[in-house]
Amino acid sequence: MKIGILDSGVETPEEIIMAAEMTPVRLLSNPLIELSKSNEHVPPNHCIWARNILEQALQAIDDDIKGIVVAHGCDCTNREFDIWLECVHLDFMYFLNAPLKRDEIALKFFIDDIKEMISQIEEKFDVSINSEKIRKAIILTNKIRRILKEMSEYRAKRVLKTSQFHAYVKKVQQQDKTEMLMFLEKELERVQHEKTPNSLQKPILLTGSVIDDTNFIVYLENLGFDIITDDLCIGTRYFWNLIDETCDPIEALARYHLEKPIYSTKSPSIERFTFLKYLAETYKVKGVINVAQKFCEPVLFDHPIMSTKFKELGIPYLFIELEYKQESYKQLSTRFEAFGEIL
Ligand code: SF4
Repeated sequence: MKIGILDSGVETPEEIIMAAEMTPVRLLSNPLIELSKSNEHVPPNHCIWARNILEQALQAIDDDIKGIVVAHGCDCTNREFDIWLECVHLDFMYFLNAPLKRDEIALKFFIDDIKEMISQIEEKFDVSINSEKIRKAIILTNKIRRILKEMSEYRAKRVLKTSQFHAYVKKVQQQDKTEMLMFLEKELERVQHEKTPNSLQKPILLTGSVIDDTNFIVYLENLGFDIITDDLCIGTRYFWNLIDETCDPIEALARYHLEKPIYSTKSPSIERFTFLKYLAETYKVKGVINVAQKFCEPVLFDHPIMSTKFKELGIPYLFIELEYKQESYKQLSTRFEAFGEIL
């Protein structure tokens, strides 16, 4: 049985769903589908990525998905939850109040809401979720995070292709974690035996909205860029920190989500720049590309300050607003090529 996660910032504690012996599946967009039904529910300036997921839900959702957790993120995903309640028929729907702030009051609030989520899952699916099961799930996801972090270093050394790494992180968010651990262990072993190539690609840092179309990453590679680091939810933000395996597991989960690299939907979002600066300097990137999905307000809001701050650091910065359609990527080539020339 699967539980879908609609989450703009990977803030849903998947381990709770795993402890209920179900598979958490992050819902992602599909750039190949046509949007029609979703247009009846949201205005034209609603984020293109979230709209795409709504479209999939209104058309037909995977039969194995028996419920959904929507974590508090941006206004688009938050409000889509109300549409799901009215128009999508699932056994279970839970809105998880992932806090905006990161202080002790927010922590307590988040712990209480995770507990409420646990009791609702237990009641709905007649399962028992205890500390031991949650801790077991945490140990498993931590193993995955350690491997992804190690693999990320191989992508920084150009041993592992950026697009390949992106596909791995995406797969982890959508498939059974035990199977994914075995898969990643084999892949890591393979990568450890590869030689470091002499790459002429330009090393960059990618930031912005959720970017789940691996073909977009391939497109950037074909234009001569290597994304050697990022702070994306299908990327670094998913594996950078580990969850404490020694303290109370619910508190550990809440702390983990409040302490990991911040997304533009949370406060203070300027902290996102602090982490980006750290990544840019540590990995010695030649430039930063910030990609906003069309109408992604949180990332659009952050763009001016990012632009100013990277200018101060002397790191070339490019901001792009993206249509969630593969045929539209080509229209951006001139801007990317011009950026590549100054690096
Ligand atoms: S891309 Fe931006 S607007 Fe769209 S769901 Fe994510 S955070 Fe929200």
